[in-house]
Amino acid sequence: MARHTALCTATLIAFLSIPCLANRKLLVFLIDGFRYDYINEAELQNLPGMREIVQLGVKADYLTPEFPSLSFPNYYSLMTVLIRQGKADMAAVYYERNDVEGHHFGPWSKQRKEATKALDETLRNMNMKIKEVGLQNELNVMLFSDHGMTDIFWMEKVIELDKYIKMSDVLNMMDRGPIVSLWPQEGKLNELYSNLKKVKEMSVYKKDEIPDKYHYKGGKFVAPLTLLAQKGWFIAENIQKLPYWANGTDGKKGWQHGWHGYDNELMDMKGFFLAYGPDFRSNYKAPPMRVVDVYNIMCHVAGINPLPNNGTWSQVKLMLNNGVNLSCTAKASVTVLTVLLAWVFF
Ligand code: ZN
Ligand code: ZN
Repeated sequence: MARHTALCTATLIAFLSIPCLANRKLLVFLIDGFRYDYINEAELQNLPGMREIVQLGVKADYLTPEFPSLSFPNYYSLMTVLIRQGKADMAAVYYERNDVEGHHFGPWSKQRKEATKALDETLRNMNMKIKEVGLQNELNVMLFSDHGMTDIFWMEKVIELDKYIKMSDVLNMMDRGPIVSLWPQEGKLNELYSNLKKVKEMSVYKKDEIPDKYHYKGGKFVAPLTLLAQKGWFIAENIQKLPYWANGTDGKKGWQHGWHGYDNELMDMKGFFLAYGPDFRSNYKAPPMRVVDVYNIMCHVAGINPLPNNGTWSQVKLMLNNGVNLSCTAKASVTVLTVLLAWVFF
């Protein structure tokens, strides 16, 4: 974890060396596996850092991830766009502990709550530091997650594929969990398909049957068969092949208690979005958002023209301030931002 953080920070400094142009600074937090209701009204009572951010800025009801609701591909590509355009005076921070603890112990475990608490502490310090060094009119901060998390039950909710099909009929199997891709051996597609159709806790799709709402079937790497489990169910070859983790006992024997990747319409898969700073309205509750909306806001705040997309700008622009767009002040403030980040994360 420490090494990971160091790597992230190295990346940050690289971002910050991009010369400052006409825009304000942007600090982005990518919080892996942070479910939207980890910051519901009741939870916020114990999270003073995030509570302050909610008061200072914008909070969306929730953020719908792309399907499948797995980690960051969307965000990585969106960061790449911003960096390639070379215009953004921005930095990004990645925090993974909510995802890790959510998997190991479940979304409402005390371990996951502790991870959130630690993040909150960092944010509270950051808020203070921003005021202390007088960056509050220059720095926009956006925080969001890639997906939520739901409880899984390895005791009773595992779909063992080898009970329904001969695994030797499968040429390649990718992933396990809520969504699994299968490449059948030559001539075995229909047999596998009809046998897997018998499992009532999951859907089986041939390529052209994948529902349009997922915007998934057009992808280059979509397998001939896609299996999608119902909420809480876990697909694996058999229980021996489940992804156990090393929980301090000898070998990998720990059970996972949370997972994501299910239908992105399920509420448990929804992520969160918070933002504050001079470009954002304060104490504003925004309607639900999609990843593409985050992209558009990020481009706007960073002063970049977004690539054509099907986001709903009319809805998200309501969270932005219409105030004057101050030009970039002293170059020295880039150093201030760097120092601030170093202070917050070490
Ligand atoms: Zn993730
Ligand atoms: Zn995860």
